[in-house]
Amino acid sequence: MLSNLTELKCKRILYTMKPSRISSSVVEKLVSIVGGEHVLVSDEDRLAYAYDSQRVEFIPDAVVRPGTADDIAQIMRIANEELFPVVPRGSGTGLSGGSVASQGGVVLDLSRMNRIVEIDLGNLHAVCQPGVITATLATAVEKHGLLYPPDPGSIKVSTLGGNVAENAGGLRAIKYGVTRNYLMQVCAVVPTGEEFVSGAKTRKCVAGYDLASLLCGSEGTLAVITEITVRLVPFPRFRRSLTAVFETASAAGRAVSEIMAEGLTPATLEILDQRTIQVVEDYAHLGLPTEAGALLLAEFDGFSETAVADEAEAARAVLERSSAQQIREAQDAEERERIWEARRVALAALARVRPTTILEDVTVPLPKLSAMIERIAEIARSNSLLIGTFGHAGDGNLHPTILTDERDAEEMERVEKAIAQLFEAALELGGTVSGEHGIGFAKAPFLPKEVGENTIEIMRRIKRSLDPNNILNPGKFL
Ligand SMILES: Cc1cc2nc3c(=O)[nH]c(=O)nc-3n(C[C@H](O)[C@H](O)[C@H](O)COP(=O)(O)OP(=O)(O)OC[C@H]3O[C@@H](n4cnc5c(N)ncnc54)[C@H](O)[C@@H]3O)c2cc1C
Repeated sequence: MLSNLTELKCKRILYTMKPSRISSSVVEKLVSIVGGEHVLVSDEDRLAYAYDSQRVEFIPDAVVRPGTADDIAQIMRIANEELFPVVPRGSGTGLSGGSVASQGGVVLDLSRMNRIVEIDLGNLHAVCQPGVITATLATAVEKHGLLYPPDPGSIKVSTLGGNVAENAGGLRAIKYGVTRNYLMQVCAVVPTGEEFVSGAKTRKCVAGYDLASLLCGSEGTLAVITEITVRLVPFPRFRRSLTAVFETASAAGRAVSEIMAEGLTPATLEILDQRTIQVVEDYAHLGLPTEAGALLLAEFDGFSETAVADEAEAARAVLERSSAQQIREAQDAEERERIWEARRVALAALARVRPTTILEDVTVPLPKLSAMIERIAEIARSNSLLIGTFGHAGDGNLHPTILTDERDAEEMERVEKAIAQLFEAALELGGTVSGEHGIGFAKAPFLPKEVGENTIEIMRRIKRSLDPNNILNPGKFL
């Protein structure tokens, strides 16, 4: 059911929509590869692919749903002959406009390629097609006592292909690392249509350039990923979850740095600021302390009950030494589930406050976490904006979320100013403009500020050598 606002917006867009610029002869060629039911050119279908989870909107000329790597290779060769852009897309949960066709052309929807090809219990790896939903893989391997650790908040929707293309992080990155740390091998199709394989199903591999790592985080600009082999680890048998209440978010930030400096390795260490706590409680009624300035959520896991308990106790001691006002350990699975539910619904709860939600993704070195939190509060105050902040505090990765209304042009000017200030603050503190959501379309103007023109030029050379006609996902980050 669409909201009135969304329905009105869809009607307006459909009314003003331009016809597809893909010629009927190209449509025929595409149909001959994937079949008529997998080439979508109606206005309604094209509109459905005009968004990801960012706020930009670009209508593609067509949507094509390949079933095999060979289909993709043929589509890429046609795109190079006819010179139209091709934009790979998993589930469209990306938060930087990466899977929208900002220069028109074809959106390549990879969701049909959703088979787990193999789970190897001897070598501890899984081979997947790119459209496998991350949670589907995680659930499948858990049945065998195994863990696929990368767990972006979008785990139930996002695809492994999208995760590799964005080098997705998530709640467990602090202890287990990000998608790249689990990537063993990648099969892919370069923009000119040649298929290749990089990496091996081994624990170590230094055979030539590490092209699998190059593709990881390349945001669908260098190749279309057609098969992914990931490493699995044993599922930890014991876990302990703690919450700690703080008077201010910056005090919580300092406690995070102290926990990490103590050498502890939480599996997860997340923060919710006051606004986020309040909206989550309004939404999900979990019994959160709504007067708190901030809440830290921590989990320790492992294979020895004593070792996990010792780490949780050591964390409690650090929290007590810092200014935590209340520390509570979950007493059972139900209480633990409530704690993590609070984190999982944070974005959905914030999104109810105003019509437009803009989630940002700044990351700073751990000792600067509390300074970044203070800068976010100052940016909200000076621009008279509502910002709720939550995030993977143990990684120094914060998601300041601006709650606004895109119909208010004057407010949107302040929003744009605040976004630029957020990135400037992260860079001044030695951080990055993106910890995990990528650069895509939305953050392209800020990338040179972080990496400098020389680095941008090297990236451009890599792009040109693989994609001389600038066919694959043009207009993204470079
Ligand atoms: C509620 C919510 C929570 C989130 N939480 C996290 C989080 O905790 N951590 C995190 O890292 N991200 C998070 N994200 C962001 C997003 O889910 C990730 O970036 C995810 O990896 C995108 O996967 P997708 O399948 O939706 O990809 P899409 O959004 O469809 O595409 C993302 C990019 O990958 C490219 N791409 C997709 N498939 C392929 C392929 N097969 N070959 C080549 N390129 C491809 C696209 O061109 C695009 O540039 C969150 C998003 C939401 C909405």
